[in-house]
Formats: sequence, C-alpha cells, structure tokens
Amino acid sequence: LENRIYFDNAATTSLEPKVLEAMLPYFTEHFGNPSSIYSYGRDTRAGIETARKTIAKILNAQTSEIIFTSGGTEANNMAIKGAVNYLEVKTIISSKIEHHCILHTLEYLEKYQQIKIEYVKLDNKGKVDIEHLEFLLNQSKEKTLVTLMHANNELGNLLPIEKVAQLCTQYQAYFHSDTVQTFGHLPIDTQALNVDFLSGSAHKFHGPKGVGFLYMRKKSKVQSFIHGGGQERGYRAGTENVYGIIGLAKAAEIAYKNLDNDKQYILDLKNYFIQKLNLHFADIQIIGDIENSLYTVLNVSFPANDKAFMLLFNLDLKGICASGGSACSSGAASGSHVINTIMPNSDRINIRFSFSKYNTKAEIDSVIQILMQELL
Ligand code: PLP
Repeated sequence: LENRIYFDNAATTSLEPKVLEAMLPYFTEHFGNPSSIYSYGRDTRAGIETARKTIAKILNAQTSEIIFTSGGTEANNMAIKGAVNYLEVKTIISSKIEHHCILHTLEYLEKYQQIKIEYVKLDNKGKVDIEHLEFLLNQSKEKTLVTLMHANNELGNLLPIEKVAQLCTQYQAYFHSDTVQTFGHLPIDTQALNVDFLSGSAHKFHGPKGVGFLYMRKKSKVQSFIHGGGQERGYRAGTENVYGIIGLAKAAEIAYKNLDNDKQYILDLKNYFIQKLNLHFADIQIIGDIENSLYTVLNVSFPANDKAFMLLFNLDLKGICASGGSACSSGAASGSHVINTIMPNSDRINIRFSFSKYNTKAEIDSVIQILMQELL
C-alpha cells in the first residue's frame, strides 16, 4: 500500500538510510573474518571495536562491558540464565508484564533449575509496587536477581529505575533491566545507575534486525551462553554479525545525537493524538501509567462492540499498521498477557499506537478520520 501509515514502532522501526549506508561496505569490500589476522580481517575487527566504543560511550560504560548479541532476546536470556549459572542466583524477582523473552526464560529456570520466581505486585495501571519489591528483597535469603523492564513495550510504562537500582544495591541483589524499548530513546548512564545488566536491540531505533547488545557490569560478569569460538572475548561464540554491529552503532550514534529534538517531536505527536482522541471519542481510555510513560508508546482502549472488534483488521485494510493486544476474554485470537494481567476481566479492545520521528501530524489526522469512520 502506497499510503501506508506505520504506527507500530515499538514492534520494529524502519532502517535509517544513513545506517544502511554505513553497513553497505561491510557486505562488499570489508568481508574479511574479524578473527583473521591479515588486513581484511583487521578492517572488520576495527569496525566492530569502534562500534563497541560507540555503545560503551553512550552508556557511560567500559568497552569490555559490552557484548554484541543477536538482539534483545538473546541479551536478556544471557543475563538471566548467566546470573543463575555463574553468579549463584537462586531467587529471581520480576513482574508478570515483562516481555516473553523474560517470562519464558523464568518459567524455564523454575521448571528445570528449581529457581524460585517471585512476581512483584502491580497496580491496575501496571505500575510496580515498590514497597512490595522491597518486601520481596528483604524476605529473600538467597542470592537474588531483580529483572524489571525499563519501559513496557505494550503500555509504555516507565520503571522508576533509579529507585529499583538503589533497592537492589541496598539488599545486595543483582539488577537486570530490559532496556530494549528505551535504549536509543532515553539517556542511560550505567555509572550513575548501579545496574548489573542491560539489553538493547538495534531494530527498535532505526537499526537493522537481528543485532543487539548486553551490557554486563565489570564486577558481575557471567560467562558464555553460546559455546564455540573465542569471539567477543569468549563471552559469545560465533562469527560476528559485522554489518549488523556496524548498523547498531550507527543507529545508536544518530539516535543519541538527535535525542532531545526527536523526543520532543515524537512527544508532540503523541500528545496531539491524545488530544484528538479525547475530542472525538467519548468512551476511549488511555491505559497504562500515563504520567510516567515512554513518549513513543500510546495504548488506547475502546469499548467492546461489533465495530471495535473489527477495528484492527479494518485499520489494516486501510493501510494503518498498529498492534492489537486485548484481554483473552474479548475473543481476540490471542490475548495479551500484559492486558490480561492489569485488566483481567475487561472486554475492551486495546490498540497500541507507537511512534517514530518519521511520523507526522497529518498521519494522525488520517488515522483519526478513519477511526471516526469505523467507530462512530
Ligand atoms: N524486550 C522488549 C521489551 C521488547 O519490546 C522486545 C522486542 O520485541 C524484545 C525484548 C526482544 O528484542 P529482539 O526483537 O531484539 O529479540
């Protein structure tokens, strides 16, 4: 569709042309294996190490604390399974609205490695109950890892990450945060934060798919999760995704160079959308912790009726890309575990709209028009 409107940037983003440009030579002339000692290999090795410096600098970390991975899923698996296998973690505190790459990892560790999993209480907006988190930390007598996402990908809710990091320090627990939705969108300073593990994924900020990184604090290093060659200084075997790593770093560099402007631009779009929705629809709700929300994500809930049931499908027919995510009880093909957790008995229809710097107010006007045609 020529007039496609892409409002699903929390799922993935389009590749920035300058990122592609930076990657291209690594598909052609710079094809050497970075582990080779001759010059062809040294070129690609240098590219990877420069990329590592870029990511480390953005995070105020050391280059030795950055491991390139195949994306956010792998980075999160490596941190959590690594904390169990190499740091003697026996209890993990998390929440029911984490991404499946966290939740399914926890279920696996509970089933096969007898790890105790505790879930922190959430309110009906999905906000973490900090007092309950402290209670769980205080109660745990074994080595503990807290894993809580920085921003929820369906709701946009932001974790009070400094507070959580401070509690983890106080109770001597390791702290991992899934920063896949925030790296590239918010400043993150690992020195100021006192966090052990963070993850990032290039395709969430106009980089390529299938590449990301794990930040591992120097004093909480876990060993390799994938065994084989000595790549990534022995922390992650397998010939590197060289062009992906180059693209990841270029995308991050651009994202952080323009962060303040892009952030304000996208926040304006989001607020404009909210304002228009409130103007035209009496019975919508914005769900999640709207006071404390990532500027890229907006989750709108519509009352259940025949028109709303068909909404996502009809938006797709009109070329609008957005994500569903309603409770199972709504009869949707597959319910969202996030919505099911915070609104368990709701039959409302939720649609997540998520924005990027490439969206415009004109696109929002078009979507509002179509929503009015479909619903009113
Ligand atoms: N964590 C969150 C919060 C996400 O939104 C995603 C993206 O789908 C992931 C992890 C997984 O990242 P990747 O797609 O790089 O595996």
